Amino acid sequence: MPAGDMLRNALLLQIEAGADEAIAETPIDRFAIRPEPARTPPPQPARPMPPPRAPMPGRTQASPPPVTVLRPTAALMATDTALGAARAAAAAAPALAALRAAVEAFEGCALKETATNTVFADGAESAVAMFIGEAPGADEDRIGKPFVGVSGQLLDRMIAPIGLSRSLNAYITNILFWRPPGNREPSTEEIALCLPFVMRHIELVRPKVLVFLGGPSAKTLLGRAEGITRLRGKWHEFRTQGMFERGEPPIAAMAMFHPAYLLRTPGAKREAWRDLMAIKAYLAEAGAPR
Ligand code: URA
Repeated sequence: MPAGDMLRNALLLQIEAGADEAIAETPIDRFAIRPEPARTPPPQPARPMPPPRAPMPGRTQASPPPVTVLRPTAALMATDTALGAARAAAAAAPALAALRAAVEAFEGCALKETATNTVFADGAESAVAMFIGEAPGADEDRIGKPFVGVSGQLLDRMIAPIGLSRSLNAYITNILFWRPPGNREPSTEEIALCLPFVMRHIELVRPKVLVFLGGPSAKTLLGRAEGITRLRGKWHEFRTQGMFERGEPPIAAMAMFHPAYLLRTPGAKREAWRDLMAIKAYLAEAGAPR
């Protein structure tokens, strides 16, 4: 294999394992570092060597094999067991604080093992609008709050002109509570394991409007296969199974381009602005308190 490909593969392996951030200001060329000369210990007075120990009966003197300690990790927990545990824990949460605690205690999603923090939510619990993105990135993982990086800053600037802010009336979360290593795409299994918590999250916030940011969020929560370009810009009705069974009315839902996409594609901001205007008009009509 060419050296370039080997290096690239080694890098990809590290990113997959979650080692995707530099921890020093400048790179260290470890090939250029000369090994320190071994320090000569000060001369010691000669001491007699202790006699060799007799081996324990039934054991040889060879060094013992390394012991592998297996934790009962998510990887070892069957998906259906984990899914059952997620459903039970989510359903049992009577309020947001309990749901946050249940998500933090959940060990069924393998993403938790590589994440630094559980990223639950940010914003006003009595929000009129609930924004749901995809997954925490590096900044969110480090700080433990959703949308705190550059796309979060854009989100704050987008919602301010329509009278929304985290401190007053907007609530922000994701369909995943842990950062996928290296920001890779989450698997359908990882999404499915978080979904019972996301559904309960929506039931407990019960906003006037739900806003799905980006394709993965919109497709997952609307149960649709189309991409964001088709799903955005129109109103959808959202209802969890629990809401349906209790005879509760659906929540109006709008899908929008993800702020990260808008940063890469400024030309799409025009459509995003139209969607924001529709949300503002809906909230005004619904008499949503500011
Ligand atoms: N992108 C998301 O979808 N969510 C975050 O929390 C941050 C970036």
